[in-house]
Amino acid sequence: MKRVMVTGALGQIGVEIVSRLRSELGVDCVLATDIRQPEGNPIVENGVFEVLDVLDAEKMYELATEFQADTMIHLASLLSSVAEDRPQDAWYINMTGLTNALEVSRKLDLKFFTPSSIGAFGPSTPKNDTPQDTLQRPETMYGITKVSGELLCDYYYTKFGVDTRSLRFPGLISYDALPGGGTTDYAVEIYYEALKNNHYTCPLEAGTFMDMMYMPDAIDAIMMLLKAEPTKLRHRNAFNVSAMSFDPVLIEASIKKIRPDFTMDYKVNQKLQQIANSWPDHIDCECAKEEWGFIPKYDLDAMTCDMLEKLEAKLSK
Ligand code: NAD
Repeated sequence: MKRVMVTGALGQIGVEIVSRLRSELGVDCVLATDIRQPEGNPIVENGVFEVLDVLDAEKMYELATEFQADTMIHLASLLSSVAEDRPQDAWYINMTGLTNALEVSRKLDLKFFTPSSIGAFGPSTPKNDTPQDTLQRPETMYGITKVSGELLCDYYYTKFGVDTRSLRFPGLISYDALPGGGTTDYAVEIYYEALKNNHYTCPLEAGTFMDMMYMPDAIDAIMMLLKAEPTKLRHRNAFNVSAMSFDPVLIEASIKKIRPDFTMDYKVNQKLQQIANSWPDHIDCECAKEEWGFIPKYDLDAMTCDMLEKLEAKLSK
């Protein structure tokens, strides 16, 4: 992995993986792309950046060829909450974008990474210690695109030999780019509101457990999987990874340890609640640990401490 092209590079994961790759490989060795080009964004201004709609297969191929990429990280996608509002768009963008990125990778012999999600599971999946290999019958359009994507990535590996790798990410919590419309976004918003108003109105019911991970662990996991010895990978698409499972009550309690005056009430959003109810409470990550050494560093309290500190510094600028 020496020259990496990233799609959807201005999103919550994109800004962080591009920064990591620029510092590890060198600024000129990372091609960041996105459908938008906001002025003053460090990802746009401080390195190689091109506008790319992932539905434009020809331009994607041209950019990867000109850049002499050896790795593709495909992040452009509509997330779970947005996908439920725009299901036809979500199918089109998520599946066509993925197919285009896989085709470019096949033609140019690129290593390939794309995230799947805990949304690839459904209500009939075992809810606790959800195994790596299990029943996947999601009922959301996001989940349908994710499980289809996992299968398509497996197909490109077995049929064409493309070195596809993927992680089933849980809700990711970070302070740089805002999340893009997922069901776990509340676990980011709560920190902003704690600092701005010392109060948060939670859109999910108490007792709604979901897997989560702090962004530095997610970025480490992508880097580790991309560097993992291929002969050790029994699975490829996609590894369960998670660092913690909590519900709104537990994250409220964690914030109160640092900000005792923080308060929370509830106004349940039925769309989000239904999606969250269909996902596992807690997934099993043993395969990721055994096959490539996944070890997350942050638990809930360590994340809360770091998140509040970093966010406070960001908001005071
Ligand atoms: P995001 O919504 O924050 O960012 C997506 C980016 O894609 C945006 O910058 C957007 O401008 C861009 N984009 C949208 N349509 C595009 C198009 N047609 N062409 C090019 N770019 C386009 O998403 P994210 O949170 O960074 O997620 C990246 C990937 O990780 C997605 O596949 C998502 O499903 C997966 N994932 C994310 C999380 C999470 O908590 N963030 C959890 C599980 C899986």
